[in-house]
Amino acid sequence: MEDSPLFQRAAVIGVGLIGGSLGWALRHHGLAGEVVGVEPDMATLERARQRGLIDRGVTDPAAGVTGADLVVIAVPVGSFEAVLARAAAAIEPGALVTDVGSVKLSVQAEAERLLEGGPVFVGGHPIAGTEESGVEAALGDLFQGALCVVSVTEATPEWAVARLTTLWRAVGSQVVTMAPAEHDRVLAATSHLPHILAFALIQTFAALPERDRLEKFAAGGFRDLTRIAASDAVMWRDIALANRDPLLAMLDDFENQLGMLRQAIEHADGGALEHYFGEARMVRRGLSGRGKQ
Ligand code: NAP
Repeated sequence: MEDSPLFQRAAVIGVGLIGGSLGWALRHHGLAGEVVGVEPDMATLERARQRGLIDRGVTDPAAGVTGADLVVIAVPVGSFEAVLARAAAAIEPGALVTDVGSVKLSVQAEAERLLEGGPVFVGGHPIAGTEESGVEAALGDLFQGALCVVSVTEATPEWAVARLTTLWRAVGSQVVTMAPAEHDRVLAATSHLPHILAFALIQTFAALPERDRLEKFAAGGFRDLTRIAASDAVMWRDIALANRDPLLAMLDDFENQLGMLRQAIEHADGGALEHYFGEARMVRRGLSGRGKQ
């Protein structure tokens, strides 16, 4: 007799880069008997089916989650609440509901309110992705070798954490459990601030009057540093607003650092600059797996 899959039916709401890749992984690794994709656009669903990301697609969230024992919400964090509100009443009481959003505290609160007394929600955030988005951007094995945060509160049942952990491990990820607020502080520093800086660097460049003439001088360093500014605008608007306080705290820290640099440059303080750059260089070279450039 064949082993039964971890989930009988998975509903993935939003079949873009992350949802589509997860749909592919669930199917490819035999983790779900069926993967149902949910999107407003039937053509996107058909494309997701052709690409092997889902078994079938529906446009109505309530219809999509009916009969599913796993519900994954993979839309921009600003749409999470509206999407879950449309699906909530149709979610099976014993289903595990999760998400992949880049912010966890706001999503946790919205899920607890909308699912109160019903299905269990455990937030997730795969630290994997690219600056591409949409159904065509979905990749097989996107989560192989990646880190995935499973977001837990004191009220999160152990069985649900164990089930979600099993899922992420089965698609090749290493799981770390974290409280939602801790996740948001950490990601503000390691992901959200760098994206804001990349957008600002590009805008600084774009505002230069001789920009067209300068483009050919935008070499490796500039391109490395700004690659993520090609990311989706709606997704990053939502992340910046949903993680406002930790992000503002990181922006304050960054402004302090810029202030120190500015002062050293203004006062032609070569010693301070050399010390500052040298320290930063050592920290950068010590980052695991990235010691060499
Ligand atoms: P994406 O490629 O743009 O995919 C989002 C999908 O959700 C799109 O197919 C979009 O359809 C669909 N969608 C939007 N609103 C919807 C709604 N109301 N109902 C149903 N479907 C809807 O974005 P993504 O990069 O996969 O991001 C999805 C989530 O993953 C976000 O919360 C993000 O924070 C998180 N995340 C992203 C990354 C990354 O590197 N990109 C990494 C980790 C986590 P349309 O295209 O038709 O709008």
